[in-house]
Parts: sequence; C-alpha cells; structure tokens
Amino acid sequence: MRGKFVVGNWKMNGGLAANKALLSDLIAGWTATPGRQIAVCAPYPYLAQVAAALEAAPIAWGAQDVSEHESGAFTGEVSARMLTEFGCRYAIVGHSERRQYFGDTDAVVAAKAAAALAAGLTPIACVGETLAERDAGATMAVVLRQLDAVIGAVGADAAKVVVAYEPVWAIGTGRTALPEEAQAVHAALRARLEKSKAAEVPLLYGGSVKADNAKALFAMADIDGGLIGGASLKAAEFLAIARA
Ligand code: PEP
Repeated sequence: MRGKFVVGNWKMNGGLAANKALLSDLIAGWTATPGRQIAVCAPYPYLAQVAAALEAAPIAWGAQDVSEHESGAFTGEVSARMLTEFGCRYAIVGHSERRQYFGDTDAVVAAKAAAALAAGLTPIACVGETLAERDAGATMAVVLRQLDAVIGAVGADAAKVVVAYEPVWAIGTGRTALPEEAQAVHAALRARLEKSKAAEVPLLYGGSVKADNAKALFAMADIDGGLIGGASLKAAEFLAIARA
C-alpha cells in the first residue's frame, strides 16, 4: 500500500537560529502516524544540524541535489556516498530550478538519480512542464520524457524512486494546478511506472501547495503527497499540509 509522503524543500533559505526554531516546532507538532511520512530537504551546510535535531524524531531528511559523480575533481559537488555517511535518506534531483538555472539536462538528472540509488539514497525525481509547454499541449510528452530518462538510467531500481510532478508554472507563483489537472498527469506517470514494475512509487505533487489546497490535491487517486517549497518554511503551515 502506498502511504502519504510530504517533503519540505527549504531551497536556499534558513540559518542556524531559524532552522533550530523550525525543526523544534516540527518535532513538537508531528507524531509518528502509520501510513504518513514527512521529510525536510535542507541546504548542504545545514544537513548536520538537521540530522542531529531529527535523530530521535519520526521525520526524515534529505538534500536538495546530489552529484552524478562518485568522487574526484568536481569542485563544489557533493556525492551520494558523502550524504549517506551522515545518515541522509533522500536527495531531490531534477528540480526545475536546477534544470533552469544550472543546466541539469534529462541525462544529468537521470545520472544523479542512478548515483543516488547506487549509494543507497532515495532520489526524489522532479518532472514538470513550463507554461509554454503546457500551452503547446506538450505536458504529457515532456513529463514522460523526463521520467523515461530516469527509468532508463535506474533500470530495475525504478521501484525505489520517489517521483514529484511539479509544473514549473506553479512553483513559487501562487498558482496551483487544479486537483483534476494534476491527477491527469499523475495517472499518466503512474501508467508509465507500472510498465517498469514500479506502480507503487510515491507520486508527489509540488507547486504552491498550501494548507488550504492540500486536502483536495491529496484526495486524488494518484497523488500520494506533496513536495512543498515556500510553505515548508513555516512549521504550522507545513504540518497542516502534512495532516491534510
Ligand atoms: C518546490 O520548490 O519544489 C515548490 C513546489 O515550491 P513552492 O511550494 O514554493 O511552489
């Protein structure tokens, strides 16, 4: 059975004091709930702080990116093995901000997903179309192309991936896909995953999810939770989404 999974993506936000307050509010407000899991993905320098704070809490944590390389002359990169040494469980790969600002192509995203899995990390692989692509009727073609790249690289490990559908036009814009619009894309992603014996993969929706729209989105048959950006920086809002 697929459970519900809500992941916070802090992006390049936070600071030692702010993180401490946010984490302690999350710990105080979240109790282990069967079938429901939450996680936070923090900037690299704060992962040790997050790991220490969450050591005894029923809250997982992850990174926002990972190198496709194992080691070597790749200045500024962080490998999957380095992350696992600290107990990291998840790494987001292919977030649209990485694709847009840092040139992560489908091939790079797929290699990052494979590198994460090879080291024992669970990649949260993001797919999503731009507004121009949606307007051109290319949504399904784009997200399936992005998903196929990941499936092609990870092979039989496809069932170990988490997939997040994040329409680029909905990220940080306050504009959310209608639950039915998101469900249609999730159903197509699920059908493609089924062909790779990965039907049970958690499929998250991301893009301006808030406490007041989460319930309707998460009620959709193929939406298993959310990848939450801005709203994950406020404990009360993030917890309300996780409970939705
Ligand atoms: C994200 O960064 O993955 C995201 C979905 O952002 P937001 O919730 O702020 O739209």
